[in-house]
Amino acid sequence: MTLLKLFAPPLDSPATIPFPNQDLPAIPLPLPHRRGSAMSVLQRSRTIFENRICPDCRQASVSTIELADGLRDAWSFTIPGTASLVGFHCKHCGSEWAAR
Ligand SMILES: [Zn+2]
Repeated sequence: MTLLKLFAPPLDSPATIPFPNQDLPAIPLPLPHRRGSAMSVLQRSRTIFENRICPDCRQASVSTIELADGLRDAWSFTIPGTASLVGFHCKHCGSEWAAR
């Protein structure tokens, strides 16, 4: 059984299809939850710079660990740099540490 259905309107009827439930109000996008101690851009940049090298293996293959509370754009994608920075992850040795 397939879920794909083809729609073929009869040729003698109008080609427009009315949208159902046009009276419903637009659904507002939920605002992201912001923590009270959000980092400033400068503090965030300094924290990333200070943690750019893994303390265990001394490699510079470090990525950030962020919460899912970043601001969203019109397409619901997270705006880079707006999520709460909570830690770092080394891609080389796999160690993780908290953002200080
Ligand atoms: Zn490492």
